[in-house]
Amino acid sequence: MQDLIDKLVKKNIPFSEKGKVANYIPELDKANKNSLGIYITTLDGKNYHSGDYKTKFTIQSISKIVSLMLAILDNGEKYVFSKVGMEPTGDPFNSIRKLETSNTKKPYNPMINAGAIAIASMIKGKDARDKFQRLLDFFKKVSEDDTLDVNYKIYCGESETGNRNRAMGYFLKSEGIIEGNVEEALDVYFKQCSIEVTTETLAKIGLFLARNGKTSSGEQLITPRIAVIVKTLMITCGMYDSSGEIAVKVGVPSKSGVGGGILSVVPGRMGIGIYGPSLDSKGNSIAGINLLEDLSEQLNLSIF
Ligand code: GLU
Repeated sequence: MQDLIDKLVKKNIPFSEKGKVANYIPELDKANKNSLGIYITTLDGKNYHSGDYKTKFTIQSISKIVSLMLAILDNGEKYVFSKVGMEPTGDPFNSIRKLETSNTKKPYNPMINAGAIAIASMIKGKDARDKFQRLLDFFKKVSEDDTLDVNYKIYCGESETGNRNRAMGYFLKSEGIIEGNVEEALDVYFKQCSIEVTTETLAKIGLFLARNGKTSSGEQLITPRIAVIVKTLMITCGMYDSSGEIAVKVGVPSKSGVGGGILSVVPGRMGIGIYGPSLDSKGNSIAGINLLEDLSEQLNLSIF
């Protein structure tokens, strides 16, 4: 395994040249375009890593899977999916257009920004600070990493540049999808996107889902049903508007973020974290996707 991942990282680094690092916040633009790293953690307790696996980056959209788990725990499946759908959009992650044209006005799914902002509004707590603290504590438990925290420079950038997200938040409020305070929901959302992680953090969250919601000490933090919902939405909607193609080519539940991370779950086998900040036109790590495709082929990972 170690030889294989060393070889695949080397092979796929050149793809970075074809992509672009996210630059909507100056801080994100500082990432090294040619970085590529991977961390794999298996159900039988083995860890493998290669390349730039130690680099810190912000979790961005990958946070949407963890906030979804907590929102379902806090509110129940029925309530959550009365406000947010379960269907892929085929549109970019930050698209607004289907919000108004769909009959229900519900965001299509929790993996697009509109859906994730609605989900953030469902996290319980007395104010934005308390809600985010509960979410961060939950993140720490799921990833078994007590050191997780927000990158405040990125958080400020997210908040300063997040006007499209604000527009969606206020639209959702006007339609009654968001019941509480919109600014609080947006603040939780901007902060969750700005949590700093490494490939190891992502692999550990992947492993948690590969175990159907159990921590390494055997604590069942979420029901297996919630784990199934999250994994299914990852495979249908987790990789922006490349989700269908990646389901065919890779075949494991995955979620990516514009910070360059990809988190994959191989049910019953392993969690995988990848980092490669150079993105393709859809927002997925370009070298990361190619690395994941090779890995899936070599290790026969597809669940299909
Ligand atoms: N913070 C980013 C946004 O809301 C997340 C984007 C992403 O990773 O897809 O625009």
